[in-house]
Amino acid sequence: MKFCCIGNKVALVTLGMLLLGWVGSKGLVPQDEYLSGIVWPEPPVVDPGDATTAPSDAVVLFDGTDMSAFEGGNWKVENGYAEVRGGGVKTKQAFGSCQLHIEFATPEEVKGNGQGRGNSGVYLMERYEIQVLDSYENPTYFDGQCGAIYKQQPPAVNASRKPGEWQSYDIIFDAPTFDEEGKLTKPGYVTVLHNGIVIHHHFEIQGGTFYNQPPHYTAHPEKLPIHIQDHGDPVRIRNVWVRENIGPLIGKKPE
Ligand code: MG
Repeated sequence: MKFCCIGNKVALVTLGMLLLGWVGSKGLVPQDEYLSGIVWPEPPVVDPGDATTAPSDAVVLFDGTDMSAFEGGNWKVENGYAEVRGGGVKTKQAFGSCQLHIEFATPEEVKGNGQGRGNSGVYLMERYEIQVLDSYENPTYFDGQCGAIYKQQPPAVNASRKPGEWQSYDIIFDAPTFDEEGKLTKPGYVTVLHNGIVIHHHFEIQGGTFYNQPPHYTAHPEKLPIHIQDHGDPVRIRNVWVRENIGPLIGKKPE
């Protein structure tokens, strides 16, 4: 009898636990949910586009039809791309920290070697170059091959496609900052994906990228144009866009 009562109690407790679990799973009993107390605005809705179009909140720099977002240089526009004919181009609009997407193709007809094959470059703020080069079976100095932060850091891997094939850079750039005396207060940082593969992850930029001198910073405005280099090779670009609002969503913290 005594044993029987203990058995009943165990059965009742077990049944109770099962019931609580079921009710809890239906959301009828408050759970121990963590609440930060921060009041978040709703994240803006962005149409991300597809592989060939820009997101809805991007500044389109080149959609395959005209180069009117750029100035300088002579680039031939045809078949949805622009090809270097002579002279670099820079955006009319200035940019600081940003996300930049650009597609490029080095010439299908291979000419030259090393730095003389399919050379161009994406210059953030007109001074921080992400090298563009035909680096498909084309040895050169590593901190000057395709994807290098020129003369500062080679790409982590060589993700280059064959000459003539379309390639992409997705660049996330944090612009450097300077105080009123022109002293650097925060270096620039850059993350780069080449054909979807991370080749730089939050790399600390050491300053302007130069051929004939070590990298160094010189104070400059918060925003400057993006420059696409002409290095004498008929490199092509297409589908170029930039997003400026890359900071975190700001919530309101409790008093
Ligand atoms: Mg270059």
